[in-house]
Amino acid sequence: MSDAGKHEIHVLEDDPLVARTVMRTLEEHGLSCRWFRTAAELLACVDRHPPALCIVDLGLPDRDGLEVVRELRQRSDCGVMILTARGFLSDRVIGLEFGADDYVVKPFEPRELVARVRSILRRYGGLGANAAQGGRRVACFEGWQFDTASFALTDPEGGAEVLGAAEAHLLQTLLEHPNRIQTRQQLAGTPDLLPYDRSIDVRISRLRRKLRDDPHNPRLVKTVYGVGYLLAVNVSWTGRAEHG
Ligand code: CA
Repeated sequence: MSDAGKHEIHVLEDDPLVARTVMRTLEEHGLSCRWFRTAAELLACVDRHPPALCIVDLGLPDRDGLEVVRELRQRSDCGVMILTARGFLSDRVIGLEFGADDYVVKPFEPRELVARVRSILRRYGGLGANAAQGGRRVACFEGWQFDTASFALTDPEGGAEVLGAAEAHLLQTLLEHPNRIQTRQQLAGTPDLLPYDRSIDVRISRLRRKLRDDPHNPRLVKTVYGVGYLLAVNVSWTGRAEHG
């Protein structure tokens, strides 16, 4: 795997004016990016030069942007952000269901775009650094196991599934603070989560499905209305922690 593009942001946007604004905004903040006009061009490049993050416009000439999000999720471990002119909540929620980490609606505030991009990069970079430094730890709870280095979630029968980075981050945050309320801001890793931002709730739903937790009567991941979520389990950690 080439290291060159590892910190690069791939921008998939067919409108040159929007693309230029996005690129200029990110570059002004020290982030390097590359522009792709079609989904075909981006997907052809992703395997050879894995980016840190892909920003995907939903309205594309050659493919449905949501399909691109899903394909990126299957083929790559990069962050995925949706950039959409469509103001419809359903599109954004579907985008998150397909595994996008976040979304920004056009016309966007440059500051908001940069903050959200940085938040995703932090989330992925932080977890990657943890794994690279040999800080592998495994959380055991209710017969389940979660490996913080490989993101593997193993069920009580021994079946394993690898979580995407956004879900892995969410689960790890809950596991680090069992039986304590985590606010949606804490779970998102950003203080400026907007009140109508449903990204955390969508991710919690995905996580509950993976943990086979009944969404109507959750036993593991409890909803604390108006505040956030709480993981109602006892957790024991094994493996090498970074700080002993
Ligand atoms: Ca477009």
